[in-house]
Amino acid sequence: MTSVYDSPSVTTLKGVGAALALKLERLGILNLQDLLFHLPLRYQDRTRILPIGSLRPGDECVIEGTIRASDVLMGKRRSLLCRVQDGTGTITLRFFHFSAAQKNGLAVGKTVRCFGEARPGPSGLEMVHPEYSAAADTGIKPVDEHLTPVYPMTEGLQQNRMRALIAQALSWLETGNLTELIPADMRQQWRLPELKTSLKYLHAPPVDANVDQLQKGMHPSQRRLAFEELLAHHLTLLQLRQKVQQDGAPAFMSTGLYTQPFLDGLPFAMTNAQLRVCGEVARDLEKPIPMLRLVQGDVGSGKTVVAAYAALQAVENNFQAAVMAPTEILAEQHLQNFTQWAEPLGLKVAWLAGKVKGKQRESQLAAIADGSAQIVVGTHALFQEDVRFYNLGLAVIDEQHRFGVHQRLSLREKGRDGVKTPHQLIMTATPIPRTLTMSAYADLDCSIIDELPPGRTPVNTVVIADSRRDQVIERVRAACSEGRQAYWVCTLIEESEVMQCQAAEVAEALLKEQLPELRIGLVHGRMKAKEKADVMAQFKAAELDLLVATTVIEVGVDVPNSSVMIIENPERLGLSQLHQLRGRVGRGSVESFCVLMYHAPLSKQGKARLAVMRETTDGFIIAEKDLELRGPGEVLGTRQTGMMQFKIADLQRDKDLLERVRQVAEPISRNPSIMQAITRRWLGQGEEYGHV
Ligand code: ADP
Ligand code: MG
Repeated sequence: MTSVYDSPSVTTLKGVGAALALKLERLGILNLQDLLFHLPLRYQDRTRILPIGSLRPGDECVIEGTIRASDVLMGKRRSLLCRVQDGTGTITLRFFHFSAAQKNGLAVGKTVRCFGEARPGPSGLEMVHPEYSAAADTGIKPVDEHLTPVYPMTEGLQQNRMRALIAQALSWLETGNLTELIPADMRQQWRLPELKTSLKYLHAPPVDANVDQLQKGMHPSQRRLAFEELLAHHLTLLQLRQKVQQDGAPAFMSTGLYTQPFLDGLPFAMTNAQLRVCGEVARDLEKPIPMLRLVQGDVGSGKTVVAAYAALQAVENNFQAAVMAPTEILAEQHLQNFTQWAEPLGLKVAWLAGKVKGKQRESQLAAIADGSAQIVVGTHALFQEDVRFYNLGLAVIDEQHRFGVHQRLSLREKGRDGVKTPHQLIMTATPIPRTLTMSAYADLDCSIIDELPPGRTPVNTVVIADSRRDQVIERVRAACSEGRQAYWVCTLIEESEVMQCQAAEVAEALLKEQLPELRIGLVHGRMKAKEKADVMAQFKAAELDLLVATTVIEVGVDVPNSSVMIIENPERLGLSQLHQLRGRVGRGSVESFCVLMYHAPLSKQGKARLAVMRETTDGFIIAEKDLELRGPGEVLGTRQTGMMQFKIADLQRDKDLLERVRQVAEPISRNPSIMQAITRRWLGQGEEYGHV
């Protein structure tokens, strides 16, 4: 389907054949609009001729002068050196490759104009292989009227070629064919320049443009485009949300039939934060539109009971609830908790994971399909084709960071029975910086459990070089001899899981030698699920003192008696990941330690990162720092970044725009044709995200 908003293919331009079109495609450029949105990386100033005497090393500029000397030097490399003088100073032009004709063209007495970078040389400043034009005296064409854009390039495409193509696209722009999509009143309110003006400015900035501002991406013309792009992403998520919510959901009354006895039976009182979030969830569930809520709470803040509360509210209304975790270890922990809470209420919990096979799996599937199990706990296995839910009313997804946006959407799809869509509760232990909740998670409402249950003592974090490994081992020995338990986490740069697991095996063997009196276990990603679960169960039952592990233990595992954690080579992990790991300790009331044992030398940034870990245990601060240091792609995880690939916007630089984007998105989302035009312009057809 084409629309008035579609722009002509690049092949309609003069001189663009199949070969060039292919090169442009490598840059993501298919049509004239793409070409116009292909913004310069930086600019060159060819609008003025600078006096040679004023040049400083690093200046990229135009100079003009008379050639005073021109000699071929036979050194290590044969080179042509020309001394150029302009009355204010002299500079040397240096050529390593030159033809006889070139040499003759650069003869003494000629006037030459050059563009290049001034660098320090053996006898003052020089330009190596400058662009130049030489003439007998005058007659060199006048300098440019605009700054010269330098574009991101691909192999086999020259800057001049790209500039010529963009010039053609700019004259197409003049014909008024690229629609302004942000309504005039909003543009005025937020002082956003017009689309056409912005694009013209950015491809050909005037002589007096603020180059520094442009270089930083902070010019109003750039901000305007970034704004529209962020708006497009935001609108896509709102569209998704609208689509889901159009379907409607079953409304669940809070009867208290199961939730009340559940609360009464807990061995602790909920924290105020837990109560508040339970309330927010309960009110969502009472509405006949699907809940789309993200619950953020630091590790150990007690998200599981909130999930259970929500599940029981669904069950009270004769609907099924599904709880999904990203790993078997975690899913199993949920199974234990939910079973322990549900059984006294006469409710049944079904269990689905990769390792549930054969007859056992069939009976679980049957219990899920006929509704005899009111609660279903599992891993990704819940997505499988043959899983039929019975009246699924609520899907709880734990540790969202491990699931991609797509999976989040496909569970929505899965639970849908004809018209209605289940409510969705997504829980994450990795606090998400506000910048990201306002962008990547704009389709979700957000609740925060910002309080830890009482009686926890903060983890004491120390940063130590691995040259002091022996001291660290003594510390582990001392802690374990007092009946405490410890984790020893191995990390590796290599992506390969095999290598990681080998490293953990080696570490285990070494530790067994050095700590013969301790009971030491090992878990890593390549062990069979059953073996892993057995070791975890032993550790939980305090039959092991020390658990050597790869980062598989990162998420959610709860062993309150463990109070020491050693992390080898913490400099290889992101801060949020370290925070997650550290959250495994400090769950009981004894003082806990986390030892970050780095391998020297640490980079300056590496030091700064580990210092953050030492100084704070606040997950939100850590997440903000992580975003600052590593960018959204890393923080969200690669599977999440599909939605977050921006052409022009930069979440960190443009984060102050997000609030405006949110405010503008609301009225625009009520105008479907503009909304669609904007999302199409920036995200194409949006096939992947459109089908919900
Ligand atoms: P997370 O938010 O990391 O998923 P969990 O739900 O696993 O945290 O809870 C961590 C531990 O804290 C569990 O042992 C749980 O029973 C306990 N817990 C949860 N809420 C409270 C509370 N209000 N008071 C005391 N302990 C609590
Ligand atoms: Mg949890």
